[in-house]
Amino acid sequence: MSPGLIPRRAVSLAAITSLQLGGPAELFAEVSQAADVPEALDWAARQNVPVTVLGGGSNVVVADGGLPGLVLQLTLDEETSVVDGDDVLVTIGAGAHWDSFVARAVARGWAGLECLSGIPGSAGATPIQNVGAYGQEVADTLFAIRAYDRQLRTLRQLERAECELGYRSSRFKTRDAGRFIVLDATFALRRGGAPHLGYPEIARRLTRHAQPTLAEVRDVVLATRREKSMLLDASDENGRSCGSFFLNPVLTSAQLEQLRARAPSAPTYPQADGRHKVPAAWLIEQAGFRKGQRWGAVGISSRHSLALVAHASATSRQLLEAAHRVRDGVAQALDVLLEPEPIFLGFGSTQHGLPAL
Ligand code: NAP
Repeated sequence: MSPGLIPRRAVSLAAITSLQLGGPAELFAEVSQAADVPEALDWAARQNVPVTVLGGGSNVVVADGGLPGLVLQLTLDEETSVVDGDDVLVTIGAGAHWDSFVARAVARGWAGLECLSGIPGSAGATPIQNVGAYGQEVADTLFAIRAYDRQLRTLRQLERAECELGYRSSRFKTRDAGRFIVLDATFALRRGGAPHLGYPEIARRLTRHAQPTLAEVRDVVLATRREKSMLLDASDENGRSCGSFFLNPVLTSAQLEQLRARAPSAPTYPQADGRHKVPAAWLIEQAGFRKGQRWGAVGISSRHSLALVAHASATSRQLLEAAHRVRDGVAQALDVLLEPEPIFLGFGSTQHGLPAL
């Protein structure tokens, strides 16, 4: 193993996750260049230990017992760009801080990512769940990714269409979960392009501006997220979370009819495939939960009912219990099964994304 890759033992994962929960990694190494990935994987195979890859730590729940084997944190953060007239292709290393990347694009007048301001985590994690917010999503601008294919044991370039991006989903979360390690992502942005203003909540706050700039849209998105405690901020009482805890369910027409029988006023947003997206936060409140509700050291964010928050002395087990409580409550009241958004590490088998208690 090259000297920079030699793993450290018993490294706290709570220290590098936004929930600040969970036990240590048995072995931990940072990967700062693409060539290190196969070397680290080969080393782990020779030691016969499992490998877990971590991005920014903002969308994971680590078990109290920690993680066996080798945890790799990707820190590649190089950025390169090619500008051709008004077309920009910008490539960002998987370990780069996503929001700093968005801030740089906005400052240069490159349109396409402005509504994705303030999303926590690393750039490499964004194609995995096709991150989206305020009417913009990674699928709109992703050009390609470069990844290490653990199955074919080689570096590969995957064009956007090959990533099979869907609503908060991709092949990296579904049929090829665990197969690829994203090393960098290339986005096709537009120099001098107009900001995206398709989301009423954001457009409403910009009515004073005749033609809002990218920077003004970014500011409004950041302010909106801050009001909902959806910006990572250590001083916020809701600061220890992994953002939205459940995905917004997308229902078939038959499922929607069933829901409407129990909750006639359920808000819905039509999808291109004929299905209907329902806000999970609305379902949670409709099932009787409320913002700021607590069960000991964990609870629901006081600013957004979709976020679960860890307070002082919380454990991952308590967070999981709260997640079950909310999911079971919504299932009993409304017959809709919520699926969690974060990845659970070190818990054993999951059912519809949630580990058993
Ligand atoms: P919100 O604005 O309260 O919206 C809740 C739900 O209603 C979302 O499913 C949203 O769809 C939908 N919605 C609201 N207005 C809509 C419209 N005009 N047209 C279509 N759908 C509409 O959501 P929030 O929880 O405060 O989050 C704000 C934004 O950040 C949302 O876009 C949300 O999806 C996004 N977000 C993304 C992630 C992620 O990518 N992992 C995590 C947290 C939040 P959309 O989801 O399609 O916007």
